[in-house]
Amino acid sequence: MSETKSPLPAISDLDLAGITALVAELGLEKYRSAQILDAVWRSDATTWAGVTTLSKRAQETLAAVARFYSTETVEREDVEDGATTKLLITLSGGAKVEAVLMRYPPDPRRGRGERATICVSSQAGCAVGCPFCATGELGFTRNLTAGEIQDQVRLARQILRGEGRELTNVVFMGMGEPLQNLDPVLASIDGLTDPLRGGIGQRRIVVSTSGVVPGINRLAQVRPQVTLAVSLHAARNPLRDLLVPLNRKWPVEEVVAAAAAHARTTGRRTTFEVTMIDGINDRPDDAAALVQVLRGSDSHVNLIPMNSVAHTPWQESSAQRIEEIAEQLRASGLSVTVRRNRGREAGAACGQLAAERAGTPPPAAVARRRELLVVASAAALQGRRSPTPLAPSGPLTPSDPLGGGDAP
Ligand code: SF4
Repeated sequence: MSETKSPLPAISDLDLAGITALVAELGLEKYRSAQILDAVWRSDATTWAGVTTLSKRAQETLAAVARFYSTETVEREDVEDGATTKLLITLSGGAKVEAVLMRYPPDPRRGRGERATICVSSQAGCAVGCPFCATGELGFTRNLTAGEIQDQVRLARQILRGEGRELTNVVFMGMGEPLQNLDPVLASIDGLTDPLRGGIGQRRIVVSTSGVVPGINRLAQVRPQVTLAVSLHAARNPLRDLLVPLNRKWPVEEVVAAAAAHARTTGRRTTFEVTMIDGINDRPDDAAALVQVLRGSDSHVNLIPMNSVAHTPWQESSAQRIEEIAEQLRASGLSVTVRRNRGREAGAACGQLAAERAGTPPPAAVARRRELLVVASAAALQGRRSPTPLAPSGPLTPSDPLGGGDAP
């Protein structure tokens, strides 16, 4: 049987000390360390051969022990008149992830200059299995390494550099649950905030979670400047059990309490995200429940229309309904923003693109999944909790029409 060869480590996994040690081990000149670090984080090179500050011998020596980029292929598409760039990235082993680069014009009213944000993936697929999310439907493939996360940011910086712009923000809101891959995520934050590497302020980084309570607690302790976003989606447990299966392990009250403790420890306001789904979580009662759980906390609420995905019977709430809910929340003292979902034109939000590439599930399996969601949401809306998740992770396949795997 042939052995599968592990890929070489990614150079972006190393800081200056690591590169210095590598340079010494390879017998290269000491001054090469600074050149390498600069080439990795500040040049337009995409391969070792493209690093013109290095000698051919140094290029070849380094190429034998480390990959310049951990990405195998990158497909790029610019949409929304060039304001959004979607990247479909293939990693070693064939895992596909998405990153979305969003450019924002200056906003003088809020005292903001031009900004550019990259939304990165932390896992290929996701084990949480939220049924409104295309990534959840793909199931879990594998965790990303710190280098694979950082390389999404390096790609974005190279694109922006070509436009004379700078990357200002990084959000962990792409594929995967970052707090279920916490050590590599923390290591990637180290790299991104290292002045010699990414040079991005911790306060310009957002980590979004579906509610992994131990991860929230640890984040508060070890990276207190990073902003926390919590995907809440519903404030009542029966409905949140359905929308975020992880809720069975850490229910709404525990998640909100962990977020409040995070805000107290860090002094940073928590953002709560609510994906607005027509007739499911967009009624006045839902807003009232949200007010009840968030009352008194240092928080901000983002309302975001759902992206349509084939395997659910659900649609986004109307713009008018979302505004009505926003008004109700504001009237109760909550800070609220209605956001549009950048990347949706490209089908790039929430793993839609990778899901498309994974293939179309059989129509019968989709129809069955939709029927089950109709029944489960009716029960949840009546306040009935189910002990088992309806939408376990795992792609829809003919032999396993409702997916395999375990929800956390
Ligand atoms: S919404 Fe986030 S946590 Fe839920 S399945 Fe999708 S990627 Fe995972």
